[in-house]
Amino acid sequence: MTNATNPLLDFTDLPRFDLIQPEHVKPAITQLLADGRSLIESLTAEGTPATWSDFAGALSDGLEGLGRAWGVVGHLHSVNDVPAWREAYNEMLPEVSRFYTELGQNLKLFDKYRALKASPEYATLNAEQKKIVDNEIRDFRLGGAELPEEQKPRFQAIMEELSQLAAKFSENLLDATNAFAEVVTDEAQLAGLPDYAKEAAREVAQKAGIDGWKFTLHAPSYGPVMQYADNRELRARMYRAYATRAAEIDNGYSKPEWDNGPLMKRILELREEDAKMLGFANFAEVSLLPKMADTPVQVLAFLRDMAKKAKPFAEKDMAELLAFAKDELGIADFQPWDAAYVSEKLQQARYAFSAQEVKQYFIEPKVVGGLFKVIESLFGLLVKPDTAPVWHEDVRFYRIETPAGELVGQFYMDLYARETKRGGAWMDEARSRKHQAGGVQKPIAYLNCNFARPVGGKPATFTHDEVITLFHEAGHGLHHLLTRGTELGVSGIHGVEWDAVELPSQFMENYCWEWEVLQGMTAHVDSGEPLPRALYDKMLAAKNFQSGMMTVRQLEFSIFDMRLHCEFDPKGERTVMDLIREVRDEVAVLVPPEWHRFPNSFSHIFGGGYAAGYYSYKWAEVLSADCYAAFEEAGNPFDPVVGKRYLDEILSKGGSRPALENFKAFRGREPSPDALLRHSGMIAA
Ligand SMILES: [Zn+2]
Repeated sequence: MTNATNPLLDFTDLPRFDLIQPEHVKPAITQLLADGRSLIESLTAEGTPATWSDFAGALSDGLEGLGRAWGVVGHLHSVNDVPAWREAYNEMLPEVSRFYTELGQNLKLFDKYRALKASPEYATLNAEQKKIVDNEIRDFRLGGAELPEEQKPRFQAIMEELSQLAAKFSENLLDATNAFAEVVTDEAQLAGLPDYAKEAAREVAQKAGIDGWKFTLHAPSYGPVMQYADNRELRARMYRAYATRAAEIDNGYSKPEWDNGPLMKRILELREEDAKMLGFANFAEVSLLPKMADTPVQVLAFLRDMAKKAKPFAEKDMAELLAFAKDELGIADFQPWDAAYVSEKLQQARYAFSAQEVKQYFIEPKVVGGLFKVIESLFGLLVKPDTAPVWHEDVRFYRIETPAGELVGQFYMDLYARETKRGGAWMDEARSRKHQAGGVQKPIAYLNCNFARPVGGKPATFTHDEVITLFHEAGHGLHHLLTRGTELGVSGIHGVEWDAVELPSQFMENYCWEWEVLQGMTAHVDSGEPLPRALYDKMLAAKNFQSGMMTVRQLEFSIFDMRLHCEFDPKGERTVMDLIREVRDEVAVLVPPEWHRFPNSFSHIFGGGYAAGYYSYKWAEVLSADCYAAFEEAGNPFDPVVGKRYLDEILSKGGSRPALENFKAFRGREPSPDALLRHSGMIAA
């Protein structure tokens, strides 16, 4: 197959979803990988000048086709996961991964980037180009490229051992999770549990060939028991089993080889060694280098300030919970395994409203129209239907234009769940903005959700949570589409710091709570009436239920994670459990029992990529709330001056400027947690 006949290799405009078939994948990707390898070969040759146009720009432009074609394949694998597409994707996945791994380790590329940085030309590059060169050098440096030759084998060995330890940590946790089962044979023991939870447990039992109901430590089984089961002993047993997974404690089902304790110690030792080799004081500094936050001290100060402000509200939440447990449920000796159960009962008593009733007001045409109206009012742009080849008949395609009719970007919207579509909601890029010969390449995005499709000739209705999800993903989409970036490496969401990437998405969620916006985007599926004020008030009241307690819990994990990676000595006397106890003394209101081994199941930081990065959740919430507060201070969620400034200083900048500079240019000051605290009902009136 030639370029002319393989539609995956057609980059002239929109992806050819009308023509692309699984059999196109192997020939197209194989060719693009080969082209990429020979391009890298020629760009790293001694004779190639280390200039922007001959090297860095040529590399980025030259590999764009591979990124776009593989992006289409990955997208189709996610939204149309039929056997033929799964096979085509999986066949090429190892090849593509290997290509990018090699790219990141190619020291000849590193040398060229360094030569470019050291050349007189560097000073003449624009801000975007400089940022790309700096990012590349930083990433190579963090990968050990600058180490003396004799140290490189040790560094490589550390990296490999760390990735094995991370995998083992997760495996131990999974094995421990899977090993436990609670079988109930007397239905009376299951009082309080909703039918769906009982049915699921019944099915698990049947599959195992046993009578009764079988409960496990997996969230869909464990969660409902803790939340709804009236049987306190059942909750206590499952809580203990859950809290002691992958620990040294003999809980009756665990095996000593699943203990994650020694792994944590080893992981922390190796991370520290890695950091020291790279010339940093500790691993937290390594983790923060490519992030928005500057130093561990700054992050800890941020978290502690927030904890200090949230703790009185958390204590109030806790007191309320204890009082309700005692007065209404007769639980005088409140225990941690009562927390979810009592909370559920308290919420029902205080803030009950029917999510089902709310759903009747959020009909699809109103919600989608409401989203577009927010975008139009906020940024002075237009969203219009457009046409393109699509991968499924339900997919819609739109364009964003300036009032003068100039195209800004385009996006696909694939809202409904299908059997062949991966779960959840996500935004992805189909093409990024850049300057090229003859003009500007305009960006294109995919917005994917998993909402229920319309039935019975009526429009689809969405829960309020689903509406928030749609706005969230649209926020990521706007970050990609409204960029003014002209270089691929920092255009749109490219190159945006990891702890700042959720700012534009969470920002958009605020509009789903504006009374004025909700009036315009609701119409009851039968009566056509907008959302009633009384129902809205109940939604608002429920929104901040226990927000103090939830905040200090997240802060406890974040402070523990940061201190573990900046001040804890894994070889010292003090244990990981000692450290979390210290953190709890400082911030927690609901203190787990002595035998609780939370760190042993903290996969985010030991089995995943969140080490010295767990704070990012709260950090991004603070940023987005603080940005939204600028509109509140102006007295208008659509204030045109503030909207333009948000677009100019944050959205359109993408990764071309550090996120903190973007924020300060928009807000005129450093971020403050006050807006988030106020939005969560935690500013004392
Ligand atoms: Zn997001």
